[in-house]
Amino acid sequence: MLQHNLGIMGGTFDPIHNGHIAMAEHCKKAFSLERVLFIPTGNPPHKQNRTSDKMHRLEMTRLAVEQTEGFEVSDIEVNRNGLTYAFDTLHQLRSEYPEWNLYYIIGADTLEDLYSWYRIEDVARLTKFLVVGRNGITSDQLHTAALRAREDFGAHLIDAQYTGPDISSTVIRSLASEGRSLKGYVPDKVEAYIYLHELYKR
Ligand code: ATP
Ligand code: MG
Repeated sequence: MLQHNLGIMGGTFDPIHNGHIAMAEHCKKAFSLERVLFIPTGNPPHKQNRTSDKMHRLEMTRLAVEQTEGFEVSDIEVNRNGLTYAFDTLHQLRSEYPEWNLYYIIGADTLEDLYSWYRIEDVARLTKFLVVGRNGITSDQLHTAALRAREDFGAHLIDAQYTGPDISSTVIRSLASEGRSLKGYVPDKVEAYIYLHELYKR
């Protein structure tokens, strides 16, 4: 039987950057993902009132990935009222893609955050996780955290055998607040958007 594999790339994307794109590209090839959905979060419980307007984050995500074959942007989280939970998103994707394997792509730093996710045991039944290495986290630390998450809530975690470039939205916001060049960190269109809308101006 033909297998369809869906990659799910969730994030605050404040802003989306070349690290997000690189990890999605790697996973797409390595795990034969037919489609990767980029889903900017709406109102994340852990970053309330600390993020840029969700419509700006959605638009930057569109600018960054709309030209790439197999990459799509989903507004299901930004258009949902109330707090955003991955559980609701996965539940919805499970019914929209009934025959597909779901793979949630995360960076190694997110393994710790899983403990605070709403209904994480149910989330773990709905999707497998592809775990990408993140600068500053050793592969030993990654494996220990992955083993713990497997024991603690039965998550199916797969080592993506890839480490993302040393880029974070936090560093980009700081560069942008100083009016510096974002070349190499974000796609040119995203840089232009950030400065046009003065998103991270002090
Ligand atoms: P912030 O600094 O604001 O937290 P971020 O760069 O971590 O931003 P997020 O939107 O929080 O970006 O990340 C979305 C997902 O992508 C998370 O699972 C995170 O771990 C992962 N990720 C982001 N950047 C990288 C990177 N450079 N390498 C590996 N994983 C990454
Ligand atoms: Mg982060």
